[in-house]
Amino acid sequence: MTNSTQLLQQALSAQLNAYAPYSGFAVGAAILTPSGKIFCGCNVENASYPCGTCAEAGAISAMIADGERQIAEILVCADDECLLPCGNCLQKIAEFALPDTLVHCANLDKIVQTYRLTELLPHRFYLENTTDDR
Ligand SMILES: [Zn+2]
Repeated sequence: MTNSTQLLQQALSAQLNAYAPYSGFAVGAAILTPSGKIFCGCNVENASYPCGTCAEAGAISAMIADGERQIAEILVCADDECLLPCGNCLQKIAEFALPDTLVHCANLDKIVQTYRLTELLPHRFYLENTTDDR
């Protein structure tokens, strides 16, 4: 079984547990780390909408809680479309990824599209940006 197949299966499993009573839009995510571990997340909505979290954020939290700090690949899945991570999640992914880290977008059946992180977020925010002497 390839890494991407495992990622898709794990993301789909997490998607089944999504808490999305307001949008009805269930999303799953799975992260592969360089050590070969996989961490999953799903979206968790809230009656106070901004309190909700995306699937990618959940997967990143699980990765960090386990002591891992590097995303080798990440996959995001939704029912029947090629879902791209939102801008907020791209920045969260970038914190723990390299510009060429693979971002897979999948539906229930397969990976529909794969991007390098830099294609989706060519100019991420770095800490150095806050100390730039302009
Ligand atoms: Zn997001």
